Amino acid sequence: MGDITSPPDLKGHAEGTGPIRKRQPVYTDYLPPCNSTCPAGENIQGWLALAQAGEFEKAWQLIMQDNPFPAVSGRVCYHTCEDKCNRVQVDSTVSIHAVERFLGDEALKNDWQVGNIMPSSGKRVLIIGAGPSGLSAAYHLAKMGHYAEIHEAGPIAGGMMHFGIPAYRLPRHELDLEVQRIQQMGVSIVFDHKVTDVLAEKARLLLSRF
Ligand SMILES: Cc1cc2nc3c(=O)[nH]c(=O)nc-3n(C[C@H](O)[C@H](O)[C@H](O)COP(=O)(O)OP(=O)(O)OC[C@H]3O[C@@H](n4cnc5c(N)ncnc54)[C@H](O)[C@@H]3O)c2cc1C
Ligand code: SF4
Repeated sequence: MGDITSPPDLKGHAEGTGPIRKRQPVYTDYLPPCNSTCPAGENIQGWLALAQAGEFEKAWQLIMQDNPFPAVSGRVCYHTCEDKCNRVQVDSTVSIHAVERFLGDEALKNDWQVGNIMPSSGKRVLIIGAGPSGLSAAYHLAKMGHYAEIHEAGPIAGGMMHFGIPAYRLPRHELDLEVQRIQQMGVSIVFDHKVTDVLAEKARLLLSRF
């Protein structure tokens, strides 16, 4: 008997090591951490790859599948995506927020139009409030071919984007243009119209003509 422990048998070790294993790694595709922390659920790695390839309009169209306000988000979003960016372990986070703002502004400058709008479904939806939630809902419904009508208590669209966020942080020019783009898709906004009875509003919308 030698006094050195003999090396483990890596080919046939019954208790775990070696090539004979009962447990194998499981590979699962997940979204990268930036996507899962983006409140708009954007396909960030997808549009960043397009932007990197110089395909700016395609990158913008991909953002617009999820978020109708890239010029606004690129300015005021708290960019939680960047907090979770894996790149920070190498040097610093990818500047997702700045690229989003650039693409949003390019779209406004070049008057890019939203693609893939479905034909009219003949259905109508009443939305209360023209803040970012109501406007985003109307945008997605319009893309799906539905008619959306927003009843807004105030005299202007944008909600707290307009009345809360200061203009030095969110210039009204870009905000107004992104709202106008949604209106140009056929979304109608009735201003100075506070909703107090939802069922009555709904009945009125159903009786009205397009
Ligand atoms: C001072 C301030 C600064 C902010 N800064 C930032 C920022 O830097 N970044 C950021 O991401 N977020 C910021 N936010 C938060 C952001 O503005 C809100 O999260 C966002 O506006 C919420 O959108 P919303 O559509 O749900 O509601 P709102 O923006 O409140 O919109 C609701 C809309 O509904 C209308 N309405 C309400 N009741 C009725 C009714 N009965 N009938 C008809 N219309 C009705 C209102 O007039 C309003 O236009 C800020 C908010 C404030 C107040
Ligand atoms: S900056 Fe843009 S991509 Fe990042 S979390 Fe905000 S909306 Fe999403």
